[in-house]
Amino acid sequence: MFDKILISRCFLGEKVRYNSEVIALKHPLLTLWQQQNRFIAICPEIAGGLSVPREPAEQNQVNGEILTCTGVNVTKQFNVGAQQSLALCQQHHIRFALLKESSPSCGSTLIYDGTFANKKIAGQGVTSQLLTQAGIQVFSENTIEALATLLDK
Ligand code: SF4
Repeated sequence: MFDKILISRCFLGEKVRYNSEVIALKHPLLTLWQQQNRFIAICPEIAGGLSVPREPAEQNQVNGEILTCTGVNVTKQFNVGAQQSLALCQQHHIRFALLKESSPSCGSTLIYDGTFANKKIAGQGVTSQLLTQAGIQVFSENTIEALATLLDK
């Protein structure tokens, strides 16, 4: 049986991003995996109760809280979304996730530094971190080929 992959809903062209922008990920592997019915899609921030559009949010590097650009604390919603993502993985026996890089939820190697100065630092978003801790390997649009080498083994 094919490995299922947890995927960020925004990669599939769904209108879930904070600014309502639709940016589908175009890649032949994505098309193939869609045809193979591998994807289980989630937007952790929507799953956590946030809406579209919403204010951009970043993780404060001092206390770990997730704050919007006007200072609203959305840590709880981000944590709920992460838990729901993990629950989906467990339900579908998912070992791999393909999530949007640099997002405060989905980023797997980079996140914004919490100052809203458009500065990225090494780090993981809330959902990526929880999945990684649970043994799920998280990939991004930059490492999609690496994911392909691991499937169905
Ligand atoms: S939380 Fe993840 S799935 Fe949702 S819009 Fe942001 S990057 Fe995409």
